[in-house]
Amino acid sequence: MKPSKTKHLYLEENRLRAHMKCPAFFRFGGTVDLPIKAAILEFVYIRLILEMMRDKDFDFNFSLNRTLQLSVNALNLTEYFLKDEIKHVLLKTAEHAKSIFVDYLPAHKYVPVFGPYEYKVNISNSYVDLRISSLLINRFDANLKGLEDKSRALVAVAFSPYTSPRDIENDLIQRIKVMSLADASPLTRSKQTTSVRLHLFGLANEFLHHGLIEWDNKNATGWGKYLTAPIQQIEAKYDYPIVPCLYQCPYKNICEPTPNRKEIKNETGL
Ligand code: SF4
Repeated sequence: MKPSKTKHLYLEENRLRAHMKCPAFFRFGGTVDLPIKAAILEFVYIRLILEMMRDKDFDFNFSLNRTLQLSVNALNLTEYFLKDEIKHVLLKTAEHAKSIFVDYLPAHKYVPVFGPYEYKVNISNSYVDLRISSLLINRFDANLKGLEDKSRALVAVAFSPYTSPRDIENDLIQRIKVMSLADASPLTRSKQTTSVRLHLFGLANEFLHHGLIEWDNKNATGWGKYLTAPIQQIEAKYDYPIVPCLYQCPYKNICEPTPNRKEIKNETGL
């Protein structure tokens, strides 16, 4: 398949996942975004990390309650849930946030060094925007001076749009993040850390699922090849539907090869 030589494409994660789900879904402008409950959890997590970095007298319970209340307006929760449901969703989110900060990334072990971190990777003729919800380092590594570089690990956190443990853990884009972060992060570039660990969180049937992907900086080359095929398909405007298609999809009635489909396909400009 020949990629376009003339035009650079700029893709966000949610668009690339749309192509991986179905090339026709991508061409219609589809995206694979965080479901609303995972979006609330990510919102709360990021605000807490930013407050931890800013405020020396950070009080977890106080900040958590305030951030949960803020999420109601910030994410327009009344559009998604009834009033009583919002209460339940916020309680569940509080439970998950506590689990992240107490069970997986406790403050006595990890120091946050960046809030959300976004960077671009160049693959084939295109650029992909990748997003990390926060970067941390191990408190033990941060305090020790003269420690061998190789003992230091950069700890990244990301949230998954998928809702089954298998999909959360097998997401190729999350693996690319870990591999490319070794090249892109200011800490790994300056050799302050030499390996990357990505803690991946997703909600599967309201349960918090945690996955861990590890990557050593020494091997940080050649990762782009894993995404070359889907990106070249996008560049070549490969947009065939899945047959038969079992997805519930907003484009169901226009994705057959009809004149309608052609009109919508051209509106996306890709
Ligand atoms: S209905 Fe199915 S095949 Fe058509 S665009 Fe949607 S996901 Fe793809």
